[in-house]
Amino acid sequence: MSDAVKLFKAPIRLEYTIPAGRATSRFCRGLASGRLYGQRCPECKKVNVPPRGACPTCGVPTEEEVLLPDSGTITTFCIINIAFAAQALELPYACASILLDGADSTLFHLIQEVPVAEIRMGMRVRAVWAENKLASLEAIRHFKPTGEPDALASIEGHF
Ligand SMILES: [Zn+2]
Repeated sequence: MSDAVKLFKAPIRLEYTIPAGRATSRFCRGLASGRLYGQRCPECKKVNVPPRGACPTCGVPTEEEVLLPDSGTITTFCIINIAFAAQALELPYACASILLDGADSTLFHLIQEVPVAEIRMGMRVRAVWAENKLASLEAIRHFKPTGEPDALASIEGHF
């Protein structure tokens, strides 16, 4: 009897469609027009972005739209140093959780136009918008430093 087969290659692929829902649809339409909308919770008054249609803390529906500026503060970040199959950017690059001014939850996006070694918690950043804005987070190419003083105090409790 021959040896048992222990390994074999079986490439797989999964395509799926996710219904955006009302809150995400409004958020994406806002992005396509260069605007960032969050939603304020009627109970705790926190502004969540991206909005999910319900407060993650209170669990109640959220409908009040809040126009947010495209500036914020890095609460935490990661630097990608390892190549992977779908990699689109030159290594190393960084992604960060960004607390937009006036928001109570963070948005995850790329940080560019700064050496990764200079990226830090509290760094002030602003969105760099794409010329042709899609109805997705790709409407923002990345965030870049504003050059303002760090704002660690403004992100206390958000990391
Ligand atoms: Zn709430």
